[in-house]
Amino acid sequence: MDYLPIFLDVKGRPCLVVGGGKVAARKLALLHRAGARVTVVAPEVCNDMRQLLQQENISHEQREFRDGDLDDTVLVMAATNDEAVNRHVSSLAGQRHIPANVADNPKLCNFIMPSVIDRSPVQIAVSTGGSSPVLARLLRARLESFIPAAYGRLARMVDDYRREVKQRFAEPARRRYFWESVLQGQVAELLFAGQEEKARTALEAAINSTDEDFSGGGEVYLVGAGPGDPDLITFRAMRLMQQADVVVYDRLVSPAVMDLVRRDAELIYAGKQRDQHTLTQESINDLLVRLAREGKRVLRLKGGDPFIFGRGGEEIETLAQEGIPFQVVPGITAAAGCASYAGIPLTHRDYAQACIFVTGHLKDGTVDLDWESLARPAQTVVFYMGMHSIPVISRELIAHGLPATTPVALVQKGTTPEQRVYIETLASLPDIVAREALQPPTIIIVGEVVSLHEKLEWFSGNKLTKK
Ligand code: SAH
Repeated sequence: MDYLPIFLDVKGRPCLVVGGGKVAARKLALLHRAGARVTVVAPEVCNDMRQLLQQENISHEQREFRDGDLDDTVLVMAATNDEAVNRHVSSLAGQRHIPANVADNPKLCNFIMPSVIDRSPVQIAVSTGGSSPVLARLLRARLESFIPAAYGRLARMVDDYRREVKQRFAEPARRRYFWESVLQGQVAELLFAGQEEKARTALEAAINSTDEDFSGGGEVYLVGAGPGDPDLITFRAMRLMQQADVVVYDRLVSPAVMDLVRRDAELIYAGKQRDQHTLTQESINDLLVRLAREGKRVLRLKGGDPFIFGRGGEEIETLAQEGIPFQVVPGITAAAGCASYAGIPLTHRDYAQACIFVTGHLKDGTVDLDWESLARPAQTVVFYMGMHSIPVISRELIAHGLPATTPVALVQKGTTPEQRVYIETLASLPDIVAREALQPPTIIIVGEVVSLHEKLEWFSGNKLTKK
C-alpha cells in the first residue's frame, strides 16, 4: 500500500488554498463541503472562485503567498500556475508537518485526493495512487452507476436505530445478520423508492419481529426494460435485475436485456403474442401475488415503459389490493426509443407542437379511435401495436383530412442491431404490407417530423430501406 486511506475531519478548522484558478476553486469547493474554514491566498481569482468566495467560512487574501500563512493551518492545498510557489508551499508544509497537496504533482504532495462518490454520510474514495486520475474517475463513474443515490439516506436512517438494534440483539453475530437482511431487503428498497415512512415502519417491525427472517418478506418491482438496447435501461432497473429472486418477463424484453438479469434468478415467461396469451392477465396478477407471498423479490420486467400500453397499472392494482409492497421503475418507451434511433424528433418547432401515443390494436377491426383528433395538423401520432391496422390507419387519417403525402415511418425492432426503418407516405403505407415481411415489434410514426429522418438518421442497425 503506497498511501494510508483516511477520512479527515476538517469541520470548523482552518485550511488554506493557495491559488485562484479553476483547479484551486475545485479544491476550495471540496474543503467547503467538508465544513472547513478556508482562507484563499491569491492575487487574482477566476470567476468560479469569485462565486465561491461569497459563501460563509471562506475568506480571501488578495496577495502572494507568505510563509506566515501556514502558521494557523491544519491543511494546505496549492494550485497556482507558478511551479516555484507550489514547490515552496510544499516544502514549507513538509518542514512543519502540515498535510499538503499540490495539484497535478504527486511528488510535491504528502497526501493525495481520491475521486469521491458522495452519498454522505456514505463516502467511497477511489485512488490510483496518483498514477492515473482518469482511471480513478472512470472507476468512480462505474460505482456511481450502481450505488443508489439514496444510499446516504439509508445510512442516516440506520443510524437512528443503531442503539435500539444493539439493545435488541446483544450478540454481535446476530446483530450483523439482522442488518444484513434488513439492508438487502424491503427496508432498503422502500427507502430507495422514496417511501421513507414505510421504510421506517418496516424497520421497526423487523426489530420487533420474532421471526428469524428480517428481510421483510416479498415484494414486486414493476420495471420498464426499454425498447431493446440494454444500454437504455435505468440504473435502478439494473440494480433490481441483479437482486431479484424471480423474473416474470414479457416477449418484448430483448434477449440482450435478459442477459443482465441475475444468473441464478428463476425465470418465468409470461409473454404475450397477439391473440395468443401464454398467461392470461389475471393469472399474471395472481402469480405476482403468490410469488411475493412466498417471500420472494419478484421482478416484473416489461418492454418499454410499464405504464405505457403495458397493463402495468392492472398488475399493481392487484398488488395494492393485496397489500404487497411494490415499486414502479419507468423505462424508455418504444416511441421515444425508436424515434431517437431513427433520427425522428417527435416534436419540432417547425413541424409538430404535440405528440400523441395511441394503440393501433383495434378491437375486431372496428374503428374506435378518435380519428378526427388524430388527423389534426402540426402533431405527431405514434401507433403502438398498429401493424395489423395499417390499411385502416392509412384510410382513416386521409379520410379525416391529413394529406395523402404525409410522411410515415415504420420502425421495426427499434434500438436493436436489427432495427429497420421504412419511410412511406400515408397513401403508400398499405403497399408495404404486401411488399415487406414486416416483423414485430414495429411502431408507426405519422407526421411531418418523419421527413427529418433523412437528415438526422445516425444509428445503423442493418441497412436502412428507403423509398
Ligand atoms: N410498454 C411498451 C409498449 C407495449 S405495446 C412501451 O412502452 O414501449 C407493444 C408495442 O410497442 C409493439 O406492438 C410495438 O408497436 C411497440 N414496440 C415495443 N418495442 C418496440 C421496438 N423495439 N421497436 C418497435 N416497436 C416497438
